[in-house]
Amino acid sequence: MDFDDELIVCGRCRTVVQVEALSGGETVVRCPACGESDTLEAARREASQHTAYAFLQQALRPLKAGAPEVRYRFHAG
Ligand SMILES: [Zn+2]
Repeated sequence: MDFDDELIVCGRCRTVVQVEALSGGETVVRCPACGESDTLEAARREASQHTAYAFLQQALRPLKAGAPEVRYRFHAG
């Protein structure tokens, strides 16, 4: 996987987040529209969890009618 091509999308407003390198060496993502932010590592983890969840949701749709929706702050683009 090539991280240069990686896109992370804000889960709240579906805007592609900006990646910022902080002076302390940490990299964070920030949504330019609503301000949602976290470390790049956490956002990546949550985006991949969302991808897996969305896939499962699709596969299990007939079994999951009425189940509560799980919300993720960051999605893979
Ligand atoms: Zn947002």
